[in-house]
Amino acid sequence: MKTKKLKKVWVVLGILIFAIVVTLGCIKLYRVKQARQCGILLAFDDYSPGSWTEALELFDKYNVHVTFFVAWDEPTEFCYKALEKGHEIGFHTIGHTDVTDMDEEELQRCVIDPIETFRNGGIEMTSFAYPYGFHDDETDERLLEYYKVVRGAWYYEVHSKADLRHGFVEAYPIDNIHFETDEEFQAKIDQILQELSDNVGAVTCLYSHAIDVGDWCVKPERLEYLFQKADELGLKFYTFKELQNN
Ligand SMILES: [Zn+2]
Repeated sequence: MKTKKLKKVWVVLGILIFAIVVTLGCIKLYRVKQARQCGILLAFDDYSPGSWTEALELFDKYNVHVTFFVAWDEPTEFCYKALEKGHEIGFHTIGHTDVTDMDEEELQRCVIDPIETFRNGGIEMTSFAYPYGFHDDETDERLLEYYKVVRGAWYYEVHSKADLRHGFVEAYPIDNIHFETDEEFQAKIDQILQELSDNVGAVTCLYSHAIDVGDWCVKPERLEYLFQKADELGLKFYTFKELQNN
């Protein structure tokens, strides 16, 4: 009788150990997959709540999360709506002035103090985009005391995910004005996304402004092309904050 009981205990113990080993293996595989996953940080600068709100449905359709770098002095209804949908609110100055041209008082008022204003409204901003992409080592060093990541606006660069934890990262403009035709836009997107997907654990930042037909906007159809192509190649869309805490 005693031996039978002991046998039962050993069987249960064996099953338990097996289950633990399998679970740990799955967690490890999942982590490796996450680390190897390549993706895109898509951003929209300035402040275009009308066109941005209209695009929320499109983002939902493709399960895309983006970062809105707002040039605004306080949290707005749009900010809360975007956060609710899993997007991020980053900052882009009050007044859209070249940061390298600001004196200490202006830098404090237009770049640093708003962090507290938004925090008081329940929004923790940790990412900053330089107006016109103008920056230097001094501004980077100063702003990185307050923001985890500061972003440029000129070049296409492939970053490792670790670069997104803290520091300066570049971003490539995808505004309509840079591509004469949809075919030209699509060819560039194909090239960028293909290169990304050939990497391991790499990300790149793309940005525009309003989501519309104007010069300094990106057309919704072009965004949809980007989302479809990314999906086809198995690329993920990240917010900046998501990778800061990675
Ligand atoms: Zn801007």
